[in-house]
Amino acid sequence: MTTRPWNFSAGPSAMPEAVLQQAAAEMLDWHGSGMSVMEMSHRGKQFVQICTEAEDDLRRLVGISDDYAVLFMQGGASAENAIIPMNLLGLNPQHKADFVLTGIWSVKSQKECLRYGDAHIAASGGETTQINGKQYDPWTWVPPLSSWQVRKDASYLHICSNETIGGVETMDWPNTADLGAPGVPLVVDASSHFLSRPMDVSKTGMIFAGAQKNAGPAGVTIVIVRRDLIGHALPICPSAFNYANVAAERSMFNTPPAYAIYIAGLVFKWVLQQGGVAALEKQNIAKAQALYGFFDRSDFYRVPVEVSARSRMNAPFFLNDASLDAEFLKGAEARGLMQLKGHKSVGGMRASIYNAMPMAGVQALIDYLKDFERTHG
Ligand SMILES: *Cc1c(COP(=O)(O)O)cnc(C)c1O
Repeated sequence: MTTRPWNFSAGPSAMPEAVLQQAAAEMLDWHGSGMSVMEMSHRGKQFVQICTEAEDDLRRLVGISDDYAVLFMQGGASAENAIIPMNLLGLNPQHKADFVLTGIWSVKSQKECLRYGDAHIAASGGETTQINGKQYDPWTWVPPLSSWQVRKDASYLHICSNETIGGVETMDWPNTADLGAPGVPLVVDASSHFLSRPMDVSKTGMIFAGAQKNAGPAGVTIVIVRRDLIGHALPICPSAFNYANVAAERSMFNTPPAYAIYIAGLVFKWVLQQGGVAALEKQNIAKAQALYGFFDRSDFYRVPVEVSARSRMNAPFFLNDASLDAEFLKGAEARGLMQLKGHKSVGGMRASIYNAMPMAGVQALIDYLKDFERTHG
């Protein structure tokens, strides 16, 4: 039984306890090698096996065909915001990319792309809007697909399918042909909901995710990229960030984040043991329904995000009386409910309930929310 607190951090975030235990047991001596994975040559047989297994398990979990390369890279999703344009803008001589803005992360991606080429906003949720007669603030809703203005000659279309800060999830991934831009590859920043639900890789040109939200520790970025999109890097692209080099060397162009890949590999095995991403999706739906359902029945708390866009992973919420925020957080910590403070740009609270957060943790949060409302409402 765990005596550890419930960790609602947005990232780095809670890890499956079984993974931490296995890593601890193998820390000094991996499988009789007499070495920690940290101490191994990345070119040695043992680490190559660890890395190959991680890739194979990930391919099985997500359903990644051989048309796609799987790359384990460094620099996080923020570095990918530069690495992607440097690799993909060259797909079209005009170096144009289109972006759908749904929150802070997609805005950052678009701004970074401007350093390398023409980064056009195809649609934006950055304004106040009315949906079903209700008013919604900027970055609390997803612009409907029918409003996306994607250029036919764009090198790619970038979306962030789960905005970690705003708690906005885009479940509806378009075929760009249906947006009037056939052949334009879809690039998806799935950092904060990767492995939380099945994802149709075949609809995309590329999916990427920093591991530290839902797939492992900080330090490794998972990149799934269609092979025909590789090989168009701009001349300024650093060799170590050129997908052609990384793919040709199976993530060993230079020293990869070896220990982080090992831990991510343990997480992939854990997800397989749970029954895969479809089984975890069921749990994630149940967890999100329990939490949002509670908020929707309460007059004390409020969820800012439009119902159809609510993230299953990151649930921002407000106390209607913000003067109680500090006391709420103090009381939560006293009960072992950690990291509930919202991102500074949004305020209020945020509960991140990734794969590693069991229903028992969500229930402990709901129990506290009820008690706090009863004593302060
Ligand atoms: C956390 C996050 C990032 C940035 O990740 P870093 O590893 O800090 O660069 C980008 N996009 C999304 C959706 C994220 O959740």
